[in-house]
Amino acid sequence: MELSVDTVKINRFDKFSGFTHASSPRYFENDRGELEPYDFSGRDDLEKKENHISKFMKTFQPKIGAPYLLNQIHSDQVFVLKNKTQTQEQVSNIKADAIITHLPETPIGIFTADCVPILLYDSRLHVAAAIHAGREGTRQNIVNKTIMAMQREYGCVAADLVVGLGLGIGGCCYEVDADCLSSFENKIPFELPFVRPKENGKFLLDLFAVNAKEGMAAGVKPENIFQSGECTFCSPMNYYSYRREGQTGRILTFIMLRDK
Ligand SMILES: [Zn+2]
Repeated sequence: MELSVDTVKINRFDKFSGFTHASSPRYFENDRGELEPYDFSGRDDLEKKENHISKFMKTFQPKIGAPYLLNQIHSDQVFVLKNKTQTQEQVSNIKADAIITHLPETPIGIFTADCVPILLYDSRLHVAAAIHAGREGTRQNIVNKTIMAMQREYGCVAADLVVGLGLGIGGCCYEVDADCLSSFENKIPFELPFVRPKENGKFLLDLFAVNAKEGMAAGVKPENIFQSGECTFCSPMNYYSYRREGQTGRILTFIMLRDK
């Protein structure tokens, strides 16, 4: 088996020089030359989790530390990392699904497996955010709430932001029933590109389209929204997918502001 994906970037999101970003693929090549799945769950081995996070981050920069990660709970809560005296362990206990920082050389990250990781960057004020936008976060407008928090805390303006939608389950595969869909009422029109009816009476929901719409509604310019263009469900060899596999691993997506 060949390693087809090393690290994953959001298409054309790399053209901005103020930050580094990436998502983890499913496998890495270990010291024995074998393909080994990244294990960030820590379900049965916390040390392995830490080693694998460190291994992934070091593919970008030899001295980079582990990213600041949250205790994600599918909420609309936003945490602002203003102070480097807060440890990664302290932050990992904070229940929230979006993290913002202005601190350079300080990676912030999000775990997903089908939910959409969303990265924001303000090039004028040099502020970054990472969002975990699954169905619940999307329904609760977490993108909008994160942009509001960036405005409140740092004076960011939505028109200055670039937005990257990372690896998640696509509108090709994300099947929901009528009940779930109804919770999106008044938020999106039930038509393409947001919703496509299926012959089995269910619907395909495009979380990318919904979140992009929300970003634009908040004032982000359409040309400043970038997408990975890849679906986790469609690529079992490359990515974890909760929908496809049930208990599965996690994709780590991070953004780090560069020192100016
Ligand atoms: Zn798909």
